Formats: sequence, C-alpha cells, structure tokens
Amino acid sequence: MQIERILHSQGFGSRKVCRNLIHAGRVSIDGRVLKNPAADFAPAGLDFAVDGKTWRYREKVFLMLHKPAGYECSHQTQFHSPVFALLPEALANRGVQCIGRLDQDTTGLLLLSDDGQFIHVWSSGKKRVPKVYDVTTRHPVDDALIASLLTGVQLHDEPAPIAAAACRQTGERSLSLTITEGKYHQVKRMIAAAGNRVEALHRSRIGGLSLPDDLACGTWRWLEEADLAQLA
Ligand code: URA
Repeated sequence: MQIERILHSQGFGSRKVCRNLIHAGRVSIDGRVLKNPAADFAPAGLDFAVDGKTWRYREKVFLMLHKPAGYECSHQTQFHSPVFALLPEALANRGVQCIGRLDQDTTGLLLLSDDGQFIHVWSSGKKRVPKVYDVTTRHPVDDALIASLLTGVQLHDEPAPIAAAACRQTGERSLSLTITEGKYHQVKRMIAAAGNRVEALHRSRIGGLSLPDDLACGTWRWLEEADLAQLA
C-alpha cells in the first residue's frame, strides 16, 4: 500500500495532507526520511514515524483511557471537553468512540475503539460483563445499604428491581459495587434508590480488565490481544 494511503488510513489527515507531510520530510521509516508518497509498503505491522513519534499500522484501534473528571464521553459536548481531546489527533480523526459512557464527573477505566462491530457488541449491554465501581457516598455506609443493593432496588423507568452483582463496604463512606448492566446513571440511581448519595465515582474494572495502577489519570494506552481476552 502506498505510504500516503497508509498515513491517511491511520488518521493523519486527507490524502493531500498526508502527501504534504511526506514532501515536508516529516515521515520516516527505520530512521530514513521518506520523500516519495507513492512508495509501497506492506501495512501489517509497519512502524513509521511522524515528526519523530513512532506509530504502528493498525487496521482497527482498541485502547483504554484513564478518564479524568470534567470530560464528556461524546463528540458533541456542551459544557466540558470531550474525552477525545485527551487522545492524539490521529486517533481522534479515526472516529474512535467510547464503549459505554461514563458521566463527566466519573473517573476511571474507559475503553475506546474505531471497530464498529466491537463497539456495538460491547456497548449493547447484552454481554452482561461485570463492571466494578469504587463509590464514595455522602452518608455512612451500613449493612442495610449493602443488603438493599444486593437484593435489588427499584429504579424509575425500570420494570423490575435491579440488584448489584456484588457489593461490599470498603470504608466508612465507601463501597465497591459490581453491576452487569449499563443503564443511564445506573450507579448513582441505585445508590439514591437505596437512600444514600454518590459523592465520587470511579470505574476500576471491566470484566477481568483492571485499570492499571501505572496508567496516570488523563493518559491512555493500546489494548493488546491479551487485554481484549481479559474482557470477556
Ligand atoms: N453509573 C453512573 O451513575 N455513572 C457512571 O458514570 C457510570 C455508571
């Protein structure tokens, strides 16, 4: 595939923009600056550098972001920056979308991809993958709160009570809550229905995939095959 097309497919702009990047000497492979936009390369596994930053050709991208508070999981945001502003422009340009949404004030593990099928399957809620949230509450946590979350609470608009898949107290005003659905404001509404209130919310795990301790808030990394396998 021509390097100009490879760059275009990876989100570096229109064909013309990519051609200009190459003509300006900003693209290299194996340390050698490319001058010919028509130069042919096998894309699979190709490492190339744009302005000195190395990229690997990826047909589809899968990544995790440690979402900070104050960012919205939407392309059309009203009051806060979109989470996509935390990604390199080339990734944002690829039409990367969030897999499930976190509220603007929720922090933690957020998955993103540009693979339509993957986004559909993992956002639909049909998978019932467990999601673990660290919840800080306004009022003290007690056994009655934990019991009602485990038994099931009635949410407005829902035909039947919804129960936590797991729930345990982690501090005077904190608990760990596992849910398998992905309903709108689900954790906040469950805690409210049980008579308390969420003060802070952090998602620490999806399926078997935990937010790594060394992934700083506001930063992202690729999801590799082994990570994807942990999801199920
Ligand atoms: N539940 C909520 O209430 N908010 C989130 O951001 C995620 C789950």
